[in-house]
Amino acid sequence: MCSVGGGDFNLEVEGLEFERYKCNDCGNKFDGMGEEVVCPSCQSENVVKI
Ligand SMILES: [Zn+2]
Repeated sequence: MCSVGGGDFNLEVEGLEFERYKCNDCGNKFDGMGEEVVCPSCQSENVVKI
């Protein structure tokens, strides 16, 4: 039985995982990370992961 966290993970950039987002308000596409992502263009929180 496999145990999670045994060290087989490939953590190259721990905590720095950028994801692609799109703003529903202005249509801007940007890289965001964290739990509270806001559009860098219009500061809207109405963004979706793409
Ligand atoms: Zn925006």
